[in-house]
Amino acid sequence: QAKAGGRSGCRLYDESLGQYVIDRARIEQALRQGLRDGHFVLQFEPIVDVTTHQVVAVEALVRLNHPQLGLLMPGAFIEIAEDSGLIAPIGAWVLQEACRLLADWRGADVGCGRLGITVNVSARQVARPDLADTVAQALAQSGIPPQCLSLELTESALMEADVSALRMLERIRDMGVRLGIDDFGTGYSSLLYLKRLPVSFIKIDRSFVSGLVPDPTDREIVTAVIRLGRALGLVTIAEGVESPEQLDILKDLGCELAQGYLFGPSTSGAPNVAQPWKILLDHGRRAPGADSTVAPGPG
Ligand code: C2E
Ligand code: MG
Ligand code: MG
Ligand code: MG
Repeated sequence: QAKAGGRSGCRLYDESLGQYVIDRARIEQALRQGLRDGHFVLQFEPIVDVTTHQVVAVEALVRLNHPQLGLLMPGAFIEIAEDSGLIAPIGAWVLQEACRLLADWRGADVGCGRLGITVNVSARQVARPDLADTVAQALAQSGIPPQCLSLELTESALMEADVSALRMLERIRDMGVRLGIDDFGTGYSSLLYLKRLPVSFIKIDRSFVSGLVPDPTDREIVTAVIRLGRALGLVTIAEGVESPEQLDILKDLGCELAQGYLFGPSTSGAPNVAQPWKILLDHGRRAPGADSTVAPGPG
C-alpha cells in the first residue's frame, strides 16, 4: 500500500484491489464522529409488488455523509462498524430514524398509510440482548404500527444465534415486527433455520437474480427458492432486479415482491407510491425493449 496525495491524506492505494481505499482507523474515527455530529443518512429503495407494480415497502440503507471523505456506502464501513462495536449505536440510530421517517410520511398524506419499512440488522446486533429493547423503543418513539416494520437478518446472524438470541428474536416477532432472511442462499444456509426461526420472508440474493436470464442453474435455484418459500408460507422478495425480462420471469415463477435498479435509484425521501406505474414507464422509455412488460397504468 502506498500513500496517495489526497487532501485528507488518508486514502491508500491497495495494489491487490487496484483502487484507493481509506484506512480502517480513519473510517472508525469517521464513524464515531458521524454518530456524534449526525453524519449518517438513510436512503430508501422501493420494494414493489411484482404483479401490480405498487410500492409496498422500502428498504432503509445507511450511508455516512462525511464532510471530507464524501458519501460512504455501507460496503466501506459496516464491517469496520461491526469489528469496533460501533454497529450497535449505528444500528440503533438506523432503526430510530427509519421508524421516525415512516411516521412522518404516514402523517404527510402522501399515500404511505400502508407502506412497510425494512431495516438491515447485522449479526453483531442480534448477538446483543438489548436489540429487542432498541426495537421496542423505536416503535414507541415513532408510534408506527409494529406490523409496518421488518428486520432483515443475514444467514450468518442466524447461524451464530444462540438460544437466548433466538428467544429475543421471538420476542421481537411477538411485538408484531416481521423478520426475514437477507441475501438468501449466499451464507451458510441451513434449511433448519427456516424451521427454527420465526421468519416471514426471504430475500433472493442479487447474484441469483442477475443470472436468471443467462444461467439455467441460477434459474433453477431461484425457482426452487420461490417454491420453498411458498410451501413454507413465506413471502419471497427478489433483490437486484435490473431488467423487465428478469421481472417477467420472477412473476411467472410466483415471486411476490421485487426491488432493484429497474424501479429507480434509492431516494432520500418518501417513495412515489402515488404513481407506481410511472417508475416502470419512465424506465421503459430509457430501456429499449421494455415495452412488452409495461402494462397500461390506471390513468
Ligand atoms: P443488501 O441488504 O443486500 O442491500 C441491497 C444492496 O444492493 C444495496 O447496496 C443496494 O443499493 C444494492 N442494489 C439494489 N438494487 C440493485 C440492483 O438492481 N443492482 C445492483 N447491482 N445493486 C443493487 P448498499 O446500499 O451499498 O448496501 C450494501 C449492503 O450493506 C446491504 O446489502 C446491507 O447488507 C448492508 N447495509 C445497508 N444498510 C445497513 C444498515 O443500516 N445496517 C446494517 N447492519 N447493514 C446495512
Ligand atoms: Mg438488505
Ligand atoms: Mg440483501
Ligand atoms: Mg444482497
